[in-house]
Amino acid sequence: MTDTDVFADAARDWLERHAADAPRDYGAILPPELAAEGRAWQRQLFDAGFAGLHWPVEFGGRGLTPAHTAAWVTAAARAQVPPFLNMVGCVLTGGALLAFGTDEQKAEHLRPILTGAHVWCQLFSEPDAGSDLASLTTTAVRRGDRWVVDGQKVWCSNGRVADRGILLARTDPDAPPHRGIAFFLVDMHAAGVETRPLRQMNGAAEFDEVFLTEVSLPADALLGPEHGGWGVAMGALSYMWHGVMLSDLQELRIPLMLYHVLAGLVYLVLGLVITIGVHKAVQYEWISLKRGFPFMASLLAAAIGFFVYLVIFVLGMSFASDHGMMHVVVDVLWQMFEQGVGGLAVSLGIIYDMHKRFLEQERGT
Ligand SMILES: Cc1cc2nc3c(=O)[nH]c(=O)nc-3n(C[C@H](O)[C@H](O)[C@H](O)COP(=O)(O)OP(=O)(O)OC[C@H]3O[C@@H](n4cnc5c(N)ncnc54)[C@H](O)[C@@H]3O)c2cc1C
Repeated sequence: MTDTDVFADAARDWLERHAADAPRDYGAILPPELAAEGRAWQRQLFDAGFAGLHWPVEFGGRGLTPAHTAAWVTAAARAQVPPFLNMVGCVLTGGALLAFGTDEQKAEHLRPILTGAHVWCQLFSEPDAGSDLASLTTTAVRRGDRWVVDGQKVWCSNGRVADRGILLARTDPDAPPHRGIAFFLVDMHAAGVETRPLRQMNGAAEFDEVFLTEVSLPADALLGPEHGGWGVAMGALSYMWHGVMLSDLQELRIPLMLYHVLAGLVYLVLGLVITIGVHKAVQYEWISLKRGFPFMASLLAAAIGFFVYLVIFVLGMSFASDHGMMHVVVDVLWQMFEQGVGGLAVSLGIIYDMHKRFLEQERGT
């Protein structure tokens, strides 16, 4: 048994006893109404030694390896509890600080992230800068040893309950878009920061708009190089995706993906074998058929193929469920459905072709 296995067992054991204390498994984004429960859960994880597993000990972490973090995230997923308070603080900001922060910045910010004292939000998107993030227009102008920020952010998850935010703002309007941006650590309670819930069509307000008016930031709010915020953000985001990959871990993701591909292939091959089999049987007159019958037989064959595919899928689901992977299976359910429909479409194509050939053959005789 490896060290990580021993740790994973301990994590599972602890979760069995404490999962009932956790808020519902809300995933990576903290819903504002669960902020208090989320913070309490993060504090409990910190006290029990399940926070910042691969972060340095001097900043509140455990000094373990990313494999331990992966084992924890997997155990939390199996227990259906949030593995941490939120992705922006515990993965993105933490990752950015570890990679680009000064020792002072790390000392100031990392521990409150791990204890749940500070909730972080992400201030990247703007009304006219979504997918094309580098076109953002929020500005940060240097005044003495401070930065003054003006602009508007949007789609900010858990902004209204956040204590701190990571912000992208333009520091050099004359530079090419990606090169004139800086990455800041913002106090969400600072003067000039106004957060307004964004009402969606369904009446819910999951996101916030954040208005920044003459917000004065200290010099040490800048993380990384002055105009190099794009690199910091991309580094942090890749850290985030690393976190997502960890949570889905090879142990869960790869067997399911393989199963997904194999089940689709089995369906496809079965559909092909049955439809071609019927076609050959008609061609060599092993069975004598009336006009139109091959089409119905092939349709039936495709339906059987599809049914077999569904059986394999259901078996796979129950296997996954037995192994606590139900949530991941639900994630791929839609993809699998699409693949099933795709397979059926291929079979229908074959059937159409067969039917045409049959009619030609019939006309020829
Ligand atoms: C659940 C969730 C939580 C989020 N939380 C945060 C957060 O906390 N903080 C934050 O800053 N942001 C957040 N976002 C915003 C997100 O990260 C993106 O910035 C934002 O969704 C994309 O911007 P937009 O909505 O303006 O879409 P647009 O940029 O307008 O894009 C709309 C569509 O057009 C397509 N498109 C755009 N440009 C082109 C092009 N040139 N060619 C072809 N197609 C194009 C896009 O692919 C997309 O399908 C969140 C988003 C989601 C879904």
